[in-house]
Amino acid sequence: VGQRQLAPASSEAVQACVRAGDTAPRPVPASAAPARAQDYAQLERLLSGAPRPIDVLRELEASGLRGLGGAGFPAWRKWATVAGQPGPRHGVVNIDEGEVGTFKDWHLLAHDPRPALEGMLIAAAVVGLERVWLYVRDEYHDVRVLLARELEDLRARLAAWQQRYPAAFGDVTARTSGGGPLLPPGGPVIELRRGAGAYICGEESALIESLEGRRGMPRLRPPITAVRGVFGRPTLAHNVETLWWLPTLLRDGGAAWAAAGVRGRSGWRHYSVSGRVRQPGCYRLPAGSTLNELIAAAGGMADGHRLYAYLPGGASGGILPAALADVPLDFDTLADYGAFVGSMAVVVLSEADRARDAALSLMRFFEHESCGQCTPCRAGTTQAVALLQAPVWDRARLDDLSHTLRDASICGLGQAAPNPVDSVLRFFPHEVTP
Ligand code: SF4
Repeated sequence: VGQRQLAPASSEAVQACVRAGDTAPRPVPASAAPARAQDYAQLERLLSGAPRPIDVLRELEASGLRGLGGAGFPAWRKWATVAGQPGPRHGVVNIDEGEVGTFKDWHLLAHDPRPALEGMLIAAAVVGLERVWLYVRDEYHDVRVLLARELEDLRARLAAWQQRYPAAFGDVTARTSGGGPLLPPGGPVIELRRGAGAYICGEESALIESLEGRRGMPRLRPPITAVRGVFGRPTLAHNVETLWWLPTLLRDGGAAWAAAGVRGRSGWRHYSVSGRVRQPGCYRLPAGSTLNELIAAAGGMADGHRLYAYLPGGASGGILPAALADVPLDFDTLADYGAFVGSMAVVVLSEADRARDAALSLMRFFEHESCGQCTPCRAGTTQAVALLQAPVWDRARLDDLSHTLRDASICGLGQAAPNPVDSVLRFFPHEVTP
């Protein structure tokens, strides 16, 4: 994998961020990924009539692009489902990036929010969205300032595009697959919402509850969000990175984007790499890259440290030993090890660390962030924290607790909370047994 440094941050947006006194973007190395597409050029092509929405859907399917917020659901299928529902349809951009060790969406937006906003409008045009909410985590105040400015710019652009491509604007509520306007007059209503610091609001249905003015608690499914989401309407919900790739993907074609993946995977990924490496940061590498390749991209292990273990997917994705540093890090590849990549947040541990300490710390995090609506998660995480503090772990009770959490929790937080504990029992028993 070829490596090179990204050019120094120089976009207007980044300069604006720096001028505003907000957190300045960190220098971030990246792989030899494709140069980014020209601002809004792909959206303008779409508004001008070619490609048609159905062509975009085909490119999306060819690309194999999946939801990069953690769930990995094929994007084109979600789009097709929402587009097939009666209007009005809505959109949500999930910028509540709270997974432990994940900061790629922050990086992408702080460096330049335009590709993600263009991706959002491409999705709105293909699916026929009336309103879109951008839900930003409270801690990303710098990104919120940037987005507010960029949305002002976007409103002026939308007015100009409506003059230039009048046929693309009109009533999208009654739109059918047979054609019709792409965007409502003036473009979709875009609302910037500020989260309140709850990890669980990164879960799609809890985020929607919060948007609607209620406490952020996950909903039971079905119905799925694509059918019944914000205010009961069909809703296209996407993570930032998923949308960010759309302009590049449409410029180069879905098949070309897919071909970048290695070891049978499709496309590109942004990995958040932190822990015991020389240069923690956000790395753009082909899907299917391994931990060893990520560590190399991050300048190697930090001085004086040797690889011992790693978290492949933030808090929820389990803990893997150094012996599994050559496994492709992508969706569906880690199930045999009881792990998953989620939003591709990789935390590197060295021989100075203990996996059991990481598991306890993560369980405390889940205990704190549990929304409390179901007993197995609310009480189970508290019980697990107590059990994990014993010098020797009670395997039978932890196994029992793990099954209960997996089987009886409503959402992914409770279902995945036992993953780090199970990993320690499986791969690091020497730390917790006599
Ligand atoms: Fe809330 Fe936990 Fe139940 Fe999820 S599993 S709904 S976070 S109590």
